[in-house]
Order: sequence, then structure tokens, then C-alpha cells
Amino acid sequence: MADKENFDVIIIGAGPAGMTTAIYAARSNLKVLLLDRGIYGGQMNNTAAIENYPGYVSILGPDLAEEMYQSVKKFGADYRYGTVKTVNDLGSFKEVVTDEGTYQAKAVVLATGAEHKKMNIPGEEEYGGRGVSYCAVCDGNFFKDRDIVVIGGGDSAVEEGIYLANLGRSVTIIHRRDQLRAQKILQDRAFANDKIHFVWNAEVKEVVGDGEAVTSVKYRDKVNDEIKEIAASGVFIYVGVLPMTDAFKELDILDSNGWIISDPEVMTTKVPGVFAIGDARKKELRQIANAVGEGAIAGKGVFDYLQNL
Ligand SMILES: Cc1cc2nc3c(=O)[nH]c(=O)nc-3n(C[C@H](O)[C@H](O)[C@H](O)COP(=O)(O)OP(=O)(O)OC[C@H]3O[C@@H](n4cnc5c(N)ncnc54)[C@H](O)[C@@H]3O)c2cc1C
Repeated sequence: MADKENFDVIIIGAGPAGMTTAIYAARSNLKVLLLDRGIYGGQMNNTAAIENYPGYVSILGPDLAEEMYQSVKKFGADYRYGTVKTVNDLGSFKEVVTDEGTYQAKAVVLATGAEHKKMNIPGEEEYGGRGVSYCAVCDGNFFKDRDIVVIGGGDSAVEEGIYLANLGRSVTIIHRRDQLRAQKILQDRAFANDKIHFVWNAEVKEVVGDGEAVTSVKYRDKVNDEIKEIAASGVFIYVGVLPMTDAFKELDILDSNGWIISDPEVMTTKVPGVFAIGDARKKELRQIANAVGEGAIAGKGVFDYLQNL
């Protein structure tokens, strides 16, 4: 073990959750390593304007990431690249194995976030942030009084469709089956909403735009095999969210869908010294504001844990 670099705490994931823990832990004078497989910022780097993070009326995602990173640097946390492959619990020490080397620490904070499943259809990537979105709470307001398409049929699609109907002129939920998978109560609400329409048995083929922004969605009507087009300014895709938690399987702290179970009050997992925060946790709302809040709780929690070791 002596050959491995030692830290008080290793934070895995430099999104808003992990960066906040790094700030709190470094300001408490702990020796902090913040690891990420890529550039700091996490999902904020894929976000155009953020309008629901207090302190900024509107800020570009990468700019907010940079602001947070400046605080990480100011308080002396060590930020390095590395894709974490596994975390081993060795009791009072945890071993973090990455493709760049192995580190150890007395505590580990898991903040690896989540990724929205992509449809991988033409136009999806090209119009990302210019009409295509995976987050109604984040981007719905950009489509006030416009026509919106929601793709999917599960809880997220229907719940977000209802949310978007408060903003848009119309919401059309396009689903590949002839009935929704969402909870009955959500279905009832959606069916009762005059602004929400449904396209059933449809395979979405393309997001169409004019080079600047989204203008329509093309789909195949599976009943008669016809290609049809529906006008839309916003396209919200809800075909699933994947937690980025494969590296933590050995710790036995994941639910059956791969979300990390950690205490919502103190962010501890059932493994002493392992905390989990942000979008990778099993929870309802996945936003920057609560990711940051959970990061602060974990920062304080790690300090207290180390005091009591
Ligand atoms: C398009 C889009 C728009 C959004 N808009 C808004 C908005 O307007 N307002 C809002 O509040 N929220 C918004 N969100 C949601 C918000 O970005 C997330 O809730 C927030 O980023 C979650 O923070 P996090 O730190 O938990 O995880 P993430 O931001 O996902 O960061 C996780 C980090 O962990 C790293 N990582 C993952 N696995 C590993 C590994 N094995 N080894 C090393 N590093 C790893 C990743 O590279 C990433 O940097 C948006 C999300 C998207 C996708």
C-alpha cells in the first residue's frame, strides 16, 4: 500500500456535486483528490443556458463549470484525469483504481452523475441545445407558446410532458407502442390535459431543422408504414437515463437499476467512509442546485467522518 498515493478524500466525478464537495473538503484543510475521466463540469458542459441556478439570471453551462472550478483551485484541491474502474473497500482505507493509476484515501465520495440515453437519429446531436433537450425543467422555458414534441412513454416522458404543457402551445407525446408505460395517475392527468396530444405506434426517424433550430420531427407510422412529419420547435427525449455507476458494483450499494443508495440526510452509503451525491443517487430531482447541496453535505460529512476515525 505504501507505494500508492494517499489522500484524506477522493472525489470521483467533477460535476457540480463533486466540485462542491472538493471546495468544502479543501476549505476544511483536507488533502483532496478530485478525479474525472474528462474535463470538469460534467453535464453542465452540454448545457446551453442555465436559468434556474440562483445567483445567475442566465449563464452558459461551461461558464458555470469554470466558475466552480476556480473555487476548487483556489482552495487547493488536486484535480486529475482518470477513469475510475473500481473502488475497493479496505476498511479504514479505500482503494480507487483508475486507468491512470491507483490511489487510496480514508474516504471516497461518488459523484459520477448520469447520462440520458440517446436515440442516435439524424438531427439529434446537431440540434442538441438548439431545440433538442433531455431536461424539461432545464429547457422548457425556452419553448413558451411553441409546439413541443416529447418522445417516450414512461413516467419521465409523461410527467415532463405535463410540465411542458404549462409552457408550450401544444405538447405531442410520440410513443412507439399503442399504450403508455407511465403510472396510471400520470396517464390520467395527461389524457385530461387539452394541450397534450398523442401519436401512437410511431418510430421517430429524424429531428429536422433549418440549420439554426429545430422545425419538425419525422416518424414512421408503424401501422401503415408511412413517413409523417410534425412541426415542433422543441423536442424532449425521454427514452431512459443511465447512472454512471458500473465502477461501484463491487461495493454492493446500487439498486437494481444501478442508482446508488445513499442517505438523503447525510449522503452516506452503507459502506462506512463511502458517500454518494448528485445525479448518480437514487432520487427524484436531478438538477445542479440539489447536486451542489448534496456536495456540501458530503463535504461536511467527510470531515466529521475523518474526525471520528
Ligand atoms: C442537456 C442538459 C441540460 C441541463 N440543464 C440544466 C439546467 O438548466 N439546470 C439544472 O439545474 N440542471 C440542468 N441539467 C442537469 C444537471 O446538469 C445535472 O443535474 C448535474 O450536472 C448533476 O451533477 P453531478 O455532479 O451529479 O453529475 P454530472 O454533472 O453528471 O458529473 C459527473 C461527472 O463524473 C464523471 N464520471 C462519470 N463516470 C466516471 C468514472 N468512472 N471515472 C471518472 N469520472 C467519471 C463524468 O465525466 C462527469 O464529469 C441539465 C442536464 C443536461 C444533460
